[in-house]
Amino acid sequence: MPGTTLKTEAIVLRSIRYGEADRILHLYSVRRGRIGAIAKGARRPRSRFGGRLEPFFRLDLLLHEGRGELLTVTGVSTVDGYPRLRSSGPALNAGARACDAVLRLLDSAEPNPPAYNLLCRYLAMLDDPDPARAASLETALAFRLKLALAAGFAPELASCARCGEAEHLSGFSGAAGGVVCASCEAGSFALSEAAHRFMVEAIGGPLTEAPPAEELALRQAERAISETLEHHAHVQLRPAA
Ligand SMILES: [Zn+2]
Repeated sequence: MPGTTLKTEAIVLRSIRYGEADRILHLYSVRRGRIGAIAKGARRPRSRFGGRLEPFFRLDLLLHEGRGELLTVTGVSTVDGYPRLRSSGPALNAGARACDAVLRLLDSAEPNPPAYNLLCRYLAMLDDPDPARAASLETALAFRLKLALAAGFAPELASCARCGEAEHLSGFSGAAGGVVCASCEAGSFALSEAAHRFMVEAIGGPLTEAPPAEELALRQAERAISETLEHHAHVQLRPAA
């Protein structure tokens, strides 16, 4: 509603320099999903916003809603800056891919608390002093699967996505949106048992306990997620690692 103030927590997904001293922010917020905002004068040396308007910052924000498409940042305080995430190359990469996936997959102004909490949890994991496990391909794919689930695009993993058969699930079809049985495998690619098991365990278990798997199984799982999102959400994600 124009002329009102919105108070919400949000994660900075992307921060773009704009004009002389401003910043344009792509935010993922608790109260209103995706938000675009402008922070005027944010790049002036003594800006009251400090260095907080950078990717991955979790902020408490006050935003003024005018007539334009962008809201205006009027107040900001830090909930978490994830400082250790910023000092690790692999963690930075993983965080950037996660924010990019949220940016592409969750583009509506609808709140989605599971998606918001998932992103916060992943960034907190990447803020670990030893981010190797958090930044692993296993965890990156578990994040993607859970994000797809939160967005309403989880692949069907329990039975054949074409005929409902629960046995002989040997392929995956992005068009069908899940695993397929031997009789429905036209247009699918071969999915190993290990890749199938990885997806089932990763989507059902906590993000902190992504199951270990071989590279080949992980690449099949990544392809399965990517093709599902391409067909059903019309979104193309960057490679997971
Ligand atoms: Zn079938």
